[in-house]
Amino acid sequence: MRSLLVALTGALAVVCAAGAQTYAPSSGVRYHRLLIHNALVIDGAGNPTRGPVDIVVEGKTIAGVYAAHPVAESGSAMPTLPGGPFDRVIDATGMYVMPGIIDVHSHIQFDRAGIPMPHDYEFKLLLAHGITTIRDPGSMQGPDTIVAYARLSDENRISAPTIVPYVVVQSEWPDSVRAQIRHVKAIGGKGLKVFINRPDVWDAISDEGHKLGLPIATDMKIQETDAIRASQLGVASIEHWYGIPDAAIPGPQDFPDYYNYDNEADRFRWGGDLWRQADTARLSAVLDTMLAHHVTWDPTFAIYEANRDLAKAQNEPWFRDYALPAMMKFFQPNPQAHGSYQSDWTTADEVMWRNNYRIWMHWVREYAARGGNVTVGSDAGFIWALYGFTTIREMELQQEAGFHPLEVIQHATSNGARLLGLAHTGVVRPGFDADLAIVDGNPLHNLKVLYGLGMDTPGPGGKLVHRGGVRYTIKQGIVFDDHQLLADVRAMVRRARATTKGE
Ligand SMILES: [Zn+2]
Repeated sequence: MRSLLVALTGALAVVCAAGAQTYAPSSGVRYHRLLIHNALVIDGAGNPTRGPVDIVVEGKTIAGVYAAHPVAESGSAMPTLPGGPFDRVIDATGMYVMPGIIDVHSHIQFDRAGIPMPHDYEFKLLLAHGITTIRDPGSMQGPDTIVAYARLSDENRISAPTIVPYVVVQSEWPDSVRAQIRHVKAIGGKGLKVFINRPDVWDAISDEGHKLGLPIATDMKIQETDAIRASQLGVASIEHWYGIPDAAIPGPQDFPDYYNYDNEADRFRWGGDLWRQADTARLSAVLDTMLAHHVTWDPTFAIYEANRDLAKAQNEPWFRDYALPAMMKFFQPNPQAHGSYQSDWTTADEVMWRNNYRIWMHWVREYAARGGNVTVGSDAGFIWALYGFTTIREMELQQEAGFHPLEVIQHATSNGARLLGLAHTGVVRPGFDADLAIVDGNPLHNLKVLYGLGMDTPGPGGKLVHRGGVRYTIKQGIVFDDHQLLADVRAMVRRARATTKGE
């Protein structure tokens, strides 16, 4: 078997293992002039649907959006589509075009449970769900590899979303963490991911990160630093909820006396209870502090959903065709596997978590109502959460939190772009990057149409017709056929299962 060596600038190189662990060349094609004909548009900026329109994409840019059937208003005619040849026409009659989804919490993983996975497995599942950009908030594959894959994606050598690599920095010593941050900058990292650190190390991270223009995403867990302190340190985003209710609790977190942070079952079971311990008036003030420092809240509701309904999480319909054996093995209860802590998950735990969600969702909605930036992040690859599907599930849960589907789509597109400082994506607008999802259905009617499984919907005469799913994902003007991507993933899963059985 041959191995594929991809040489990149300087010392950067990615050696892909032979056979199943490599990746296929990109199946996406960028056109000189592409026409998306007769589409309804949800622009991602929160405006109502418009259309039908013709969208012209030139190279990687949206060149124009034109009324497909111009209606004259007060004597002035709507602009009509300029003539000229197209290399490709996509008939989007009856379909909705929205900006490509930006998943701001999407770890790149090439193995699970110690079992290697094809390197394009995750990427293809993401693309097939209309996800055109991911922020990788730290990957076990190592920053050099992730930066190299970001380049491969930019060059359209692999079928993958645009990758924005953040790198975990961690130390007991301020000088050492500064050196780490300079290294992140040198290798092309785009931001820092910060977990638990000593206060003096936090100060060093904030100082060095700001000097070098590397934004900070923090998953604070349980530590001295809370959301107020993190806001003052200038973090760009708070992931999950850690540190927010903590900042609104007078005194220490009130955990049971047997609690040990390093026991994941304790940590995950009781973490959400902090919402019930938080003082409402203080919590409101914490949100104002976050707001004053322009902190984005990336709640990642979906990754904890197993806590409120374990049986649902363990039996998602997409596991049948799309879950590699490695993923399912990793999800089984095992104190050694991160997030696989549910060996004794009780009715009481689920009841407690349902109540936690109600309070948590209320405050996320309140944060957005006050003008705070709320984004969509999946954190898939842990706790029964499969890539792509979980991003859509996150959108459903944000609707459950009380957001209008138009707002949910805004969170998933332009708000993500705002967090990542991507000024020319996240909105369907001339001059913006052609990052688009062409959806076979109306996501405002039902976000479920975005799932790769598609769905049965009432057709002519009331008969059920199978529709839905994102039909084409366009990343930087590169068109991917999502049915093909999903077929590739199903084939990977079939092959892996056949091998596993043979062992
Ligand atoms: Zn994560």
